[in-house]
Amino acid sequence: RLGAAKTFLTAPAVTKAGTAVRVQVNIAYPSDVEGIDVETCDGVGLMRTEFLFGKTLPDEETQYHAYCKVLEWAGGKPVTIRTVDAGGDKPVPGFTVEETNPFLGLRGIRLSLARLDIFRVQIRALLRAAIHGNLRVMFPMIATPDEYAQAAALFAEERAALAARGVTHKLPPLGIMVEVPSVALAPEDFADVAFFSIGSNDLTQYVMAAARDNAAVAHLNSVRQPAVLRLVAAVAAFGLEKGIPVSLCGDAGGDPATIPALLEAGLRDLSVAPAQLAMAKAAIADAAV
Ligand code: PEP
Ligand code: MG
Repeated sequence: RLGAAKTFLTAPAVTKAGTAVRVQVNIAYPSDVEGIDVETCDGVGLMRTEFLFGKTLPDEETQYHAYCKVLEWAGGKPVTIRTVDAGGDKPVPGFTVEETNPFLGLRGIRLSLARLDIFRVQIRALLRAAIHGNLRVMFPMIATPDEYAQAAALFAEERAALAARGVTHKLPPLGIMVEVPSVALAPEDFADVAFFSIGSNDLTQYVMAAARDNAAVAHLNSVRQPAVLRLVAAVAAFGLEKGIPVSLCGDAGGDPATIPALLEAGLRDLSVAPAQLAMAKAAIADAAV
């Protein structure tokens, strides 16, 4: 099956009915792109930058070079870099805090907004890297419009500071992850974002109250649960109506058994793990939508 799937790798993804689907890749380390032929995907739909935040916090130059490397590899194809999503299942020494319930605590954008000393460094690195390709930036774990407004305001502030110093930079489009139910239930409150990217891993665990890292509740933790699919469809419909691009970057996007349901729900833009790329494209080619 995988051998056959590989033949789909080099062609654009199109369903049996002729519907074009954009398929991007999810990466963590900048070196991940070395093993991926850029011709086989439509760019990077999610770069999880928290993996740069190892034992020591990366400085502005380290981050700038990491982002530039991915942008240069993409050669003008879109690259969506997510600001650091530390916390939850991804603790970072010296940054995240001890909590009894980390999935419901100070993670993602909440932590970044609480630690502006760290967040501003990443923002400057992103603003400077943006001139090297087709960058989009997204914020993880957004729950309220105010969090987005605060993050966007920080980009504006840092941009003004770079301009005052004469440093070349560019303001990339700013979008949000849809992974907290409050956003999926009221996307109209977020109509000023540049794009939505559905984080089905977290969205599913929060909708179903089933931890993503607990095998005992894995049967509940499925995007194909009707309540989750209904939210995905609602966000896709809202995006279509308002002209706001909607993609999905959770692991479900690369699952051949789930792809038909995601296309049914209206999605036309998936971002998958590189190892899933061939299988995902083969599943799309097989879909009736
Ligand atoms: C998600 O939650 O679906 C997602 C893509 O983000 P992460 O898995 O990094 O939390
Ligand atoms: Mg997530």
